[in-house]
Amino acid sequence: MESTSGLKLDIKIVGAGISGLACAIALRRKGHDITVYERNPELYAYGAGIQLFPNATQVLREWKLESELLKVVHQPEVMSIMRYDTGDTLGEIALNPAASMEYGHPHWQIYWPDFQRVLAKAATAIGVVIHLGQPVSAVDQEHGTLDLGDGMIEHADIIISGDGIRSRLRSTISNAESKAFQDSVFRAIIPREVMMRDPVTAALMEGTNSMVWTGPGIAVLAYPVSAGVRYNTLLSYTRPSENEVGRWNQPADASEAREMLKDFCPTVRKLWSLVDDTAKWKLGDVPKLDSYVSESGKFVLVGDAAHAIVPHAGQGAAMAVEDAAALGEFLDPATLTDRDQLRARMPAYSKFRQPRIENIRSMAYGNARFLTMADGAEQQQRDQMLSIMTSKWKAAVRENGLDAFKARVEANAESASINLPDGRMYAYGYDVIGEASKAVQELVAA
Ligand SMILES: Cc1cc2nc3c(=O)[nH]c(=O)nc-3n(C[C@H](O)[C@H](O)[C@H](O)COP(=O)(O)OP(=O)(O)OC[C@H]3O[C@@H](n4cnc5c(N)ncnc54)[C@H](O)[C@@H]3O)c2cc1C
Repeated sequence: MESTSGLKLDIKIVGAGISGLACAIALRRKGHDITVYERNPELYAYGAGIQLFPNATQVLREWKLESELLKVVHQPEVMSIMRYDTGDTLGEIALNPAASMEYGHPHWQIYWPDFQRVLAKAATAIGVVIHLGQPVSAVDQEHGTLDLGDGMIEHADIIISGDGIRSRLRSTISNAESKAFQDSVFRAIIPREVMMRDPVTAALMEGTNSMVWTGPGIAVLAYPVSAGVRYNTLLSYTRPSENEVGRWNQPADASEAREMLKDFCPTVRKLWSLVDDTAKWKLGDVPKLDSYVSESGKFVLVGDAAHAIVPHAGQGAAMAVEDAAALGEFLDPATLTDRDQLRARMPAYSKFRQPRIENIRSMAYGNARFLTMADGAEQQQRDQMLSIMTSKWKAAVRENGLDAFKARVEANAESASINLPDGRMYAYGYDVIGEASKAVQELVAA
């Protein structure tokens, strides 16, 4: 552990998703006592793949999780963006090792249950106590108590709620409800042995690319996870849906997905012909809250409970990891001498996080549009931009090798796209621990 002296807090966390476990690690590393309550009787339930961009991998490396994660991640070389019907490549975004040169840290793809397993194991190894099958039904933010049902009440200095987009505990500080986004997702995981049966899908499985096919109102994303043992694919489409917002695992019929892909190129149709088991997911987000923190400073929402964003920028889990890393700095015992300081310190944490979350939210909305444009002038402009950007970095690499990626562009929070170099630098080049630590120093000095 990083720090064992100073003010030791009793911190109780609701939810053992990515946000809850990340907070457990960040705060245990600072020497606090951490207990996690997870309502599910077991972990590792969601079979989806997610991407971890350098703003997240930087933190995970700082937490010394790299060697465990490297056993299960896939490290793509480029993200290829293709036209849906012809399969023609519109552009390529360099990922590895370019990300390590540009942003200082790699880009990983991971199977969600593998990620949760690594985090839970790491948390337990440093002394975090995780209670499975233990829902929290309510909290009292003024007194710092959690109601575990059957008359069981627990106390804490701080309660962190990472209870997801459908958060029950959000009502402790806000009336905001998650709201539906126009898109839904079919998602599927295909075992390696199934992918290897056909040369087209075997090439995807063995390939080093992350693939995106972009079509009107529909986009398909596909990449290997679990160190090449599984293949992950998502079909995101814009249509009205009856499904409840934020439910990950609504049973679905793969033939419905295949019907939507009938105008797609043979590679995508072949890929989805292998899907037996798919689930539907109605996307949504949580509107901007006034604050993530209660007045008492004893209750804080993190991750999707606080600020679920649409997944089109691949930044939901990254924001959860950033929240945790930032909380670690704001609750660093080296800068806290008294529990009374929490009333001011915690709102400062919320103010620190909100602008970043809102900028990333806008980028995610922008990317949802970027990936699903109807054919027309705007789509042609997008395709031209992708082509120019790709030619530029390839020419730079031909001239300077990997050093081409060392030329750091200026980060721009208001970039037109997370696919443009300045938008990418804003999202992926961010050092949350450094920035949070600076913010706390300024607070302490004021
Ligand atoms: C289609 C899709 C693709 C995505 N792709 C990416 C990506 O590429 N990159 C990325 O960074 N992010 C991605 N995300 C987002 C990412 O998965 C989430 O944002 C991230 O996992 C944060 O989740 P969380 O821990 O806050 O909430 P959750 O994962 O929902 O976890 C909440 C936990 O709290 C528990 N819980 C709930 N209520 C209670 C209670 N009352 N008591 C006790 N326990 C409780 C739940 O059982 C659950 O375990 C994607 C999301 C979607 C929808």
